[in-house]
Amino acid sequence: MMTRSMNLVPYPRKITSQTPPDLPVYFSHQFINGPSICSVVIDRNKRPSQWLGRAFENYLAVGVGRYCGASRYWALRRGQGTILEMEQPSLAPTMTSVPTRLWFVEGLAAVFGLVALVMVWRKGRANKRNKFGATPLGKTSRNEVDAKSVGGARAKDDDEDRIDAIVVGAGVAGSALAFTLGKDGRRVLVLERDLNEPDRIVGELLQPGGYLKLVSLGLEDCVDGIDAQKVFGYALFKDGRSAKVGYPLEGLSDDVAGRSFHNGRFIMKLREKLASLSTVKLKQGTVLGLIEENGVVSGVRYRAPDGSEVQVQAPLTFVCDGCFSNLRRNLCNPQVDVPSCFVGLVLVNCELPHARHGHVVLADPSPILFYPISSTEIRCLVDIPGQKVPAVANGDMAKYLLNHVAPQLPEQLKGAFIKAVEKGDIRSMPNKSMPALPKPTPGALLMGDAFNMRHPLTGGGMTVALSDILVLRDMLKPLPDFYDSPALCDYLQAFYTRRKPVASTINTLAGALYRVFCASPDEAMKEMRQACFDYLSLGGVFSSGPVALLSGLNPRPLSLVTHFFAVAIYGVGRLMLPFPSIKRMWVSARLIQGASMIIFPIIKAEGVLQMFFPSMVPTYHRTPPTK
Ligand SMILES: Cc1cc2nc3c(=O)[nH]c(=O)nc-3n(C[C@H](O)[C@H](O)[C@H](O)COP(=O)(O)OP(=O)(O)OC[C@H]3O[C@@H](n4cnc5c(N)ncnc54)[C@H](O)[C@@H]3O)c2cc1C
Repeated sequence: MMTRSMNLVPYPRKITSQTPPDLPVYFSHQFINGPSICSVVIDRNKRPSQWLGRAFENYLAVGVGRYCGASRYWALRRGQGTILEMEQPSLAPTMTSVPTRLWFVEGLAAVFGLVALVMVWRKGRANKRNKFGATPLGKTSRNEVDAKSVGGARAKDDDEDRIDAIVVGAGVAGSALAFTLGKDGRRVLVLERDLNEPDRIVGELLQPGGYLKLVSLGLEDCVDGIDAQKVFGYALFKDGRSAKVGYPLEGLSDDVAGRSFHNGRFIMKLREKLASLSTVKLKQGTVLGLIEENGVVSGVRYRAPDGSEVQVQAPLTFVCDGCFSNLRRNLCNPQVDVPSCFVGLVLVNCELPHARHGHVVLADPSPILFYPISSTEIRCLVDIPGQKVPAVANGDMAKYLLNHVAPQLPEQLKGAFIKAVEKGDIRSMPNKSMPALPKPTPGALLMGDAFNMRHPLTGGGMTVALSDILVLRDMLKPLPDFYDSPALCDYLQAFYTRRKPVASTINTLAGALYRVFCASPDEAMKEMRQACFDYLSLGGVFSSGPVALLSGLNPRPLSLVTHFFAVAIYGVGRLMLPFPSIKRMWVSARLIQGASMIIFPIIKAEGVLQMFFPSMVPTYHRTPPTK
């Protein structure tokens, strides 16, 4: 969004690969010296986009002299498209054409311009703050140096290339973020340690709220062509009873629903989208560490597939290396909790009792999930509390699943479950939760699971990551570049607050629901679990409200607290009716106390003010740096 008033005048000029490289234009003094400078509106690939500032995507400006009181500059063509409009500089006489009589002068000026250009570039290299120039990423960035060539770091490639941002990790968060930045014209280098299709048991159900974020990011086609299944809600099972809870999708377009799929196929689609942008370069490489100079992150060191160690620099590095992040240490206070593990199996040749719904079995000791991941496969995730799971190799896991889990499953799924256990493809993942506790660091930002995690029971991880990317995209859009790291870091503190209402609602619900859905010997918690099942079975607002929170369709913190305590009060009502007894009153009091002890610590970790009254947090109102 443009934040200042502009006087744009039509400047229709098509730039093709045949267009002579030097395009003379006139700008006022402000162009080089002033804080608010020339604006150019360029239609790139038929998508109009606005470029503010000196560092245009497609143009490089060099001052060559004065003309009628205004400095005159040459904008050297660096790309293709159509200039639609330019800002009318206050001093320049015209911006629409080059007077014929000036061709000779301009020829000379072009030569001077090129010389000046080289000088500007060299100066820019010296102070690493070159704000001019913009080239699409080449094979290797000029920002790259061979880390071993110490004492005269060797520039590996073309001196012309420059990177605006490095993204570490091309999972859900890294790929979506890099695509968004690239679409906004930033030159992005994505480093991913393994470009093969991932084969994991994580990130397989995208909530409808997450799908909507995908649409906003222009990535909705990534769920096409991968046999993704539309999901319309949940079915809950407890003690032989079941309840169906649909997503509140009324009023939304037909394509809006949850989507479940093979995580690897989805990731590959996201990476394909990256490859479609000339501004994004996706490379294989394992990032070994961040380069930090005087508290400012200026890039990363990575190991290339040939084993060489390479350094690459950029004004901003996004760390999206997932739940096992090695790089987050310096960028946040990681307080990782592992309440349980998920054991994953794939069921084939069976139908879910409720087609196109996620299934949650409220089992003992904790929930079991089922959802389709293709037209022929159903994912089963068995939650096992604690950080250790029975060993697969010696058969303890199979015994546990057959003897303890299988008897608790709905009849329709038992046979396929037993076959899947006997087949033996059993995998497990720790279920981590980690509140977002960033240490704001100039030059770097954490995203995705590296930044914030919640229990995966509600399948909210990808929705939070995509929601964060949208918040960040809108904050970064007005910035001409990312070079003023301290000012940018200061500004981005607003991001930590602006993301909160959505992220902390989904996080809190995941943590609280997991606790409520676990079996407990405590009478009060048993009542709470039953009350939750019955409350959701009531239908109407009692199911649509909580499901709207869970699905990311309406993630409002106040609504979360209201429904959570409504469940507790519903539980108390069940205990008190028809006749209250002293024992029931005692259990009711402990139920309210237990509910409070579940939800309040989670809310406290998320930050009460940030979650409920974000606009009262001073950082919320930070504005983009003007420099
Ligand atoms: C068992 C389980 C089930 C889940 N189910 C769901 C679900 O159904 N729905 C949902 O929304 N969420 C789910 N989640 C959460 C979801 O998986 C995550 O929130 C999501 O994957 C986060 O994306 P990410 O990009 O941050 O991390 P990832 O998707 O893990 O991506 C990280 C990427 O970084 C790369 N990388 C790591 N280190 C380096 C390095 N040093 N150099 C270069 N690259 C590196 C990795 O190879 C990987 O590609 C689940 C989580 C778990 C544990």
